[in-house]
Amino acid sequence: EKKQIINFGPGPAKLPQSVLLRAQQELVDYNELGISVLEMSHRSSDFNKIMTKTETLLRDLLNIPDNYKVMFLQGGGSGQFSGVPLNLIGLKEDRCADYIVTGTWSSRAAKEAEKYGKVNVIHPKLDSYTKIPDPSSWTLNPSASYVYYCCNETVHGVEYNFLPDAHGAVLVSDMSSNFLSRPVDVSKYGLIYAGAQKNVGCAGVTVVIVREDLLGHALNECPIILDYKVQAGNNSLYNTPPCFSIYIMSLVLEWIKNNGGTAAMETLNKQKSSLIYDIINSSAGFYSCPVDDACRSRMNVPFRVGGPDGDETLEAQFLDGASKRGMISLKGHRSVGGMRASLYNAVTVEDTQALANYMKEFLKEHQ
Ligand code: PMP
Repeated sequence: EKKQIINFGPGPAKLPQSVLLRAQQELVDYNELGISVLEMSHRSSDFNKIMTKTETLLRDLLNIPDNYKVMFLQGGGSGQFSGVPLNLIGLKEDRCADYIVTGTWSSRAAKEAEKYGKVNVIHPKLDSYTKIPDPSSWTLNPSASYVYYCCNETVHGVEYNFLPDAHGAVLVSDMSSNFLSRPVDVSKYGLIYAGAQKNVGCAGVTVVIVREDLLGHALNECPIILDYKVQAGNNSLYNTPPCFSIYIMSLVLEWIKNNGGTAAMETLNKQKSSLIYDIINSSAGFYSCPVDDACRSRMNVPFRVGGPDGDETLEAQFLDGASKRGMISLKGHRSVGGMRASLYNAVTVEDTQALANYMKEFLKEHQ
């Protein structure tokens, strides 16, 4: 008998129970082949079907135009901190790129890109990552090869609710922590990437969606496994792909589709995050979230307990009580402290309601 746990972890994160059960069922004998997906050649026709199914589902869910390639790569989100500049910074002779930094992950991406070209960091001196400065204040470089941003900052809970205007430049986005949590107009982007371990599966695979005409500009020193032209040209099979992670992703994508697709996910994600933000807002400062209203993340809700700077004794008590109720992984990232509730697609309204109820109870007891 499995313990009743609600996992609010930031990633790897909760997976739908039906996906786990199906994977369990198919683990030893996939599709009556007598072997597991774990044992299958990545060049076999059966694995090829899994790849095709995964890509088709993704194209369908995101309405990906035909002139975009979809790749399933290794190296995680961080691999793409290097992959993006290695492939795209050479699009223009100047080899420069604009990075809009709104938190830990875009900051790391910008730092990595500096190895390969000139990086114009927009907002390098934000006092803290709690807002997205008005786009009219962004000083974009007209000769930049691309404009990069992180659509949802997982640590700081800062999410874009608008499409940044790249003034005609190639727009690149790290959507690792809000991928498929809402509809996205892919045609507005040059490239979108996302590690799977938050909203679309388990660790090991990163989806990269790239407009075809941007391929073929990789720097000489680009490792071949990160070379988009090579990987796209080989349907992500230049080398052995993360087969099992791709298989798990296919099951999660199917689950998203069967549950109404990205529009339905968005409705639920709005509802879930509102449950938590409403309690924070109506707690008279007992709970506090430092992020501007306009860019509060629906996926990762950071908050302090006992005042804006948090009361560490109360926060320890809060975590302890949560864990007694089976709610785990609510501790905020070590760089910001406090709490963080991650409410990815697989986290249900009921799961979130349980946290909301506990927050209300804790407030009553300690206010
Ligand atoms: N980008 C974002 C938005 C993330 O949340 C993370 C990981 N939490 C990364 C990139 C890095 O991903 P990985 O650990 O897979 O390298």
